Amino acid sequence: MTTGRLHSIETFGAVDGPGIRTVFFLQGCPARCLYCHNPDSWGKDSGETITTESVVHTAKRGMPYYGREGGVTFSGGEPLLQGQFLVETMDALAEEGIRSVIDTSGTWVDEFTKPAIERSQLLLLDVKHSNSETFQEITGLNQDNLYRIIDLANEADKPLWIRQVIVPGINDTEENVEELKEFVRVRVKHVYQIELLGYHNMAIEKWDRLGIPYKLRDVPPMDRGRLARLSQLL
Ligand code: SF4
Repeated sequence: MTTGRLHSIETFGAVDGPGIRTVFFLQGCPARCLYCHNPDSWGKDSGETITTESVVHTAKRGMPYYGREGGVTFSGGEPLLQGQFLVETMDALAEEGIRSVIDTSGTWVDEFTKPAIERSQLLLLDVKHSNSETFQEITGLNQDNLYRIIDLANEADKPLWIRQVIVPGINDTEENVEELKEFVRVRVKHVYQIELLGYHNMAIEKWDRLGIPYKLRDVPPMDRGRLARLSQLL
């Protein structure tokens, strides 16, 4: 039996996928984003051990609230890093009539990525930046896996719910939003929606506690009015 590593669970989640969802934040991430909310999710071997049965057991408690759209979301960290566990658990959830969604950063691909995407209702994809240089500056990685994941989602006819965190001084411009729209237009077959999320700096304390230097210390949280105006461009 494959086991997984869990960072945390959110019940009644309403923002990480359609409807009401139980969100399992899995441990481990290959990226090192400048503004990561959960730097304590980076280590693949940290967190607590979970089994497919324990995920199904927890997820079943939310069934009265899932309705026609809701279900389970696997987020992270980067959930695709635990691909085998993900595929086995999504199958077990499906047997109980519970739909699953993967919320990925597009930074990891292995032999389990394709079957995992095929099992996902749709794919939440965090496009950190459409420009490869800025993507690398934000994540420390190149965009190769992002492209591969979009291609796999296109092949599986899965709609993509694209998200991007908007950070003052990094990507809070009209040009960036237009670039993102063009990126999506050219590459994505089925767009569920594009969503901009405002940067906030509430994770600084966590970074300090872990002794990791936080490079965006002087960057203010994203202004809500400006974010709303940028979102209108979508
Ligand atoms: S992909 Fe997500 S979990 Fe990983 S470093 Fe970036 S923000 Fe953090």
